[in-house]
Amino acid sequence: MKIENYVRDIQGFPKEGILFKDITPLLNDPDARKKCLSILVESLKGQKIDKVVGAESRGFFFGMLLAQELNAGFVPVRKPKKLPYDTISASYELEYGTDTLEMHKDAIQKGDRVLIHDDVLATGGTAKAVCDLVTELGGEIVQCNFLMELSFLNGREKLKDNPIFAAITY
Ligand code: IMP
Repeated sequence: MKIENYVRDIQGFPKEGILFKDITPLLNDPDARKKCLSILVESLKGQKIDKVVGAESRGFFFGMLLAQELNAGFVPVRKPKKLPYDTISASYELEYGTDTLEMHKDAIQKGDRVLIHDDVLATGGTAKAVCDLVTELGGEIVQCNFLMELSFLNGREKLKDNPIFAAITY
Protein backbone atom coordinates (compact mmCIF):
# COMPACT_ATOMS: atom_id res chain seq x y z
CA MET A 1 0.00 0.00 0.00
CA LYS A 2 1.22 3.48 -0.87
CA ILE A 3 0.22 6.22 1.54
CA GLU A 4 0.63 8.72 -1.33
CA ASN A 5 -2.58 7.29 -2.76
CA TYR A 6 -4.44 8.60 0.29
CA VAL A 7 -3.48 12.26 -0.22
CA ARG A 8 -5.54 14.09 -2.82
CA ASP A 9 -4.84 17.30 -4.69
CA ILE A 10 -7.43 20.05 -4.45
CA GLN A 11 -6.90 22.76 -7.03
CA GLY A 12 -7.73 26.33 -5.95
CA PHE A 13 -8.12 25.73 -2.18
CA PRO A 14 -8.17 27.80 0.03
CA LYS A 15 -7.72 30.33 -2.75
CA GLU A 16 -7.06 30.47 -6.47
CA GLY A 17 -3.62 29.38 -7.62
CA ILE A 18 -2.98 27.03 -4.68
CA LEU A 19 -2.75 23.25 -5.03
CA PHE A 20 -3.84 21.95 -1.62
CA LYS A 21 -2.74 18.53 -0.38
CA ASP A 22 -5.74 17.03 1.39
CA ILE A 23 -4.98 14.35 4.01
CA THR A 24 -8.59 13.56 4.94
CA PRO A 25 -8.61 10.32 2.86
CA LEU A 26 -5.57 9.19 4.88
CA LEU A 27 -7.32 10.00 8.16
CA ASN A 28 -10.37 8.09 6.97
CA ASP A 29 -8.57 4.79 6.30
CA PRO A 30 -7.32 2.79 9.31
CA ASP A 31 -4.75 0.74 7.35
CA ALA A 32 -3.27 3.78 5.59
CA ARG A 33 -3.16 5.57 8.93
CA LYS A 34 -1.31 2.67 10.59
CA LYS A 35 1.18 2.47 7.71
CA CYS A 36 1.85 6.20 7.89
CA LEU A 37 2.29 6.10 11.66
CA SER A 38 4.74 3.21 11.42
CA ILE A 39 6.80 5.07 8.78
CA LEU A 40 7.04 8.10 11.07
CA VAL A 41 7.89 6.00 14.15
CA GLU A 42 10.53 3.94 12.30
CA SER A 43 12.30 7.13 11.21
CA LEU A 44 13.10 7.78 14.88
CA LYS A 45 15.11 4.54 15.12
CA GLY A 46 14.14 3.96 18.72
CA GLN A 47 15.22 7.36 20.02
CA LYS A 48 13.49 8.27 23.26
CA ILE A 49 10.89 11.05 23.02
CA ASP A 50 9.45 12.83 26.08
CA LYS A 51 7.05 15.21 24.29
CA VAL A 52 5.41 15.38 20.88
CA VAL A 53 4.52 18.94 19.88
CA GLY A 54 1.78 19.25 17.25
CA ALA A 55 0.96 22.40 15.29
CA GLU A 56 -2.65 23.59 14.93
CA SER A 57 -4.61 22.08 13.54
CA ARG A 58 -3.72 19.26 11.17
CA GLY A 59 -0.60 18.54 13.23
CA PHE A 60 -2.88 17.36 16.03
CA PHE A 61 -4.09 14.23 14.23
CA PHE A 62 -0.86 12.30 13.80
CA GLY A 63 0.81 14.27 16.60
CA MET A 64 -1.50 12.59 19.09
CA LEU A 65 -1.11 9.16 17.46
CA LEU A 66 2.68 9.57 17.66
CA ALA A 67 2.53 10.60 21.32
CA GLN A 68 0.43 7.54 22.13
CA GLU A 69 2.70 5.19 20.19
CA LEU A 70 5.88 6.67 21.70
CA ASN A 71 4.46 6.82 25.22
CA ALA A 72 5.19 10.56 25.25
CA GLY A 73 3.29 13.65 26.33
CA PHE A 74 1.39 15.65 23.72
CA VAL A 75 1.68 19.44 23.52
CA PRO A 76 -0.64 21.51 21.30
CA VAL A 77 0.74 24.64 19.65
CA ARG A 78 -2.14 26.95 18.82
CA LYS A 79 -3.13 30.20 17.17
CA PRO A 80 -3.25 33.21 19.55
CA LYS A 81 -5.76 33.34 22.40
CA LYS A 82 -6.84 29.70 22.08
CA LEU A 83 -4.84 28.28 25.00
CA PRO A 84 -6.31 28.91 28.47
CA TYR A 85 -3.16 29.00 30.67
CA ASP A 86 -0.04 31.24 30.54
CA THR A 87 1.66 31.08 27.15
CA ILE A 88 4.84 31.94 25.29
CA SER A 89 4.58 33.01 21.67
CA ALA A 90 6.60 33.06 18.44
CA SER A 91 5.87 34.97 15.25
CA TYR A 92 6.76 34.16 11.67
CA GLU A 93 6.47 35.87 8.34
CA LEU A 94 3.76 35.09 5.81
CA GLU A 95 3.65 36.22 2.21
CA TYR A 96 1.69 39.25 3.44
CA GLY A 97 2.16 40.09 7.14
CA THR A 98 2.99 37.85 10.08
CA ASP A 99 1.36 35.10 12.09
CA THR A 100 1.83 34.02 15.70
CA LEU A 101 1.73 30.66 17.47
CA GLU A 102 1.45 30.00 21.20
CA MET A 103 2.32 27.19 23.61
CA HIS A 104 1.67 26.78 27.32
CA LYS A 105 4.73 27.91 29.24
CA ASP A 106 4.78 24.77 31.42
CA ALA A 107 4.30 22.31 28.53
CA ILE A 108 7.98 21.44 28.19
CA GLN A 109 10.66 21.02 30.85
CA LYS A 110 14.30 21.88 30.34
CA GLY A 111 16.07 18.92 28.70
CA ASP A 112 12.89 17.25 27.42
CA ARG A 113 13.51 15.34 24.20
CA VAL A 114 10.98 16.71 21.76
CA LEU A 115 9.50 15.51 18.49
CA ILE A 116 7.82 18.26 16.46
CA HIS A 117 5.06 17.18 14.09
CA ASP A 118 2.92 18.87 11.44
CA ASP A 119 1.09 17.59 8.38
CA VAL A 120 2.91 19.65 5.75
CA LEU A 121 6.33 21.31 5.53
CA ALA A 122 5.87 24.11 2.99
CA THR A 123 7.94 27.30 3.42
CA GLY A 124 8.97 26.18 6.91
CA GLY A 125 7.69 29.27 8.73
CA THR A 126 5.26 27.34 10.93
CA ALA A 127 7.75 24.63 11.89
CA LYS A 128 10.48 27.20 12.59
CA ALA A 129 8.14 29.07 14.96
CA VAL A 130 7.33 25.79 16.75
CA CYS A 131 11.08 25.05 17.03
CA ASP A 132 11.60 28.51 18.56
CA LEU A 133 8.91 27.85 21.19
CA VAL A 134 10.42 24.48 22.14
CA THR A 135 13.93 25.94 22.32
CA GLU A 136 12.78 28.88 24.45
CA LEU A 137 11.57 26.42 27.11
CA GLY A 138 14.82 24.44 26.97
CA GLY A 139 13.55 21.44 25.01
CA GLU A 140 15.94 19.42 22.88
CA ILE A 141 14.56 18.92 19.36
CA VAL A 142 15.15 15.30 18.33
CA GLN A 143 13.37 15.56 14.97
CA CYS A 144 10.81 17.61 13.04
CA ASN A 145 8.57 15.23 11.15
CA PHE A 146 5.85 15.74 8.60
CA LEU A 147 3.40 13.67 6.62
CA MET A 148 4.66 15.52 3.56
CA GLU A 149 7.29 17.93 2.44
CA LEU A 150 6.76 20.29 -0.49
CA SER A 151 10.48 20.27 -1.24
CA PHE A 152 10.30 22.93 -4.01
CA LEU A 153 9.45 25.52 -1.31
CA ASN A 154 12.77 24.89 0.48
CA GLY A 155 11.29 24.80 3.99
CA ARG A 156 14.27 22.73 5.12
CA GLU A 157 16.49 25.77 4.88
CA LYS A 158 14.65 27.45 7.76
CA LEU A 159 15.05 24.32 9.92
CA LYS A 160 18.65 23.65 9.02
CA ASP A 161 19.91 22.89 12.52
CA ASN A 162 17.35 20.15 13.11
CA PRO A 163 16.88 16.61 11.77
CA ILE A 164 13.90 16.53 9.39
CA PHE A 165 11.85 13.60 8.15
CA ALA A 166 8.86 13.49 5.81
CA ALA A 167 6.85 10.36 5.03
CA ILE A 168 6.13 11.69 1.52
CA THR A 169 8.18 14.18 -0.51
CA TYR A 170 6.77 16.15 -3.45
P1 IMP B 1 4.62 26.68 6.06
O1 IMP B 1 4.58 27.48 7.31
O2 IMP B 1 4.69 27.54 4.82
O3 IMP B 1 5.69 25.62 6.06
O4 IMP B 1 3.23 25.96 5.91
C1 IMP B 1 2.92 24.83 6.66
C2 IMP B 1 1.58 24.97 7.30
O5 IMP B 1 0.61 25.29 6.33
C3 IMP B 1 1.20 23.67 7.94
O6 IMP B 1 0.68 23.92 9.24
C4 IMP B 1 0.15 23.08 7.03
O7 IMP B 1 -0.93 22.56 7.74
C5 IMP B 1 -0.29 24.23 6.13
N1 IMP B 1 -0.24 23.84 4.73
C6 IMP B 1 0.50 24.39 3.74
N2 IMP B 1 0.26 23.81 2.56
C7 IMP B 1 -0.64 22.86 2.79
C8 IMP B 1 -1.29 21.88 1.95
O8 IMP B 1 -1.10 21.77 0.72
N3 IMP B 1 -2.16 21.03 2.59
C9 IMP B 1 -2.40 21.11 3.91
N4 IMP B 1 -1.82 22.01 4.71
C10 IMP B 1 -0.96 22.88 4.16
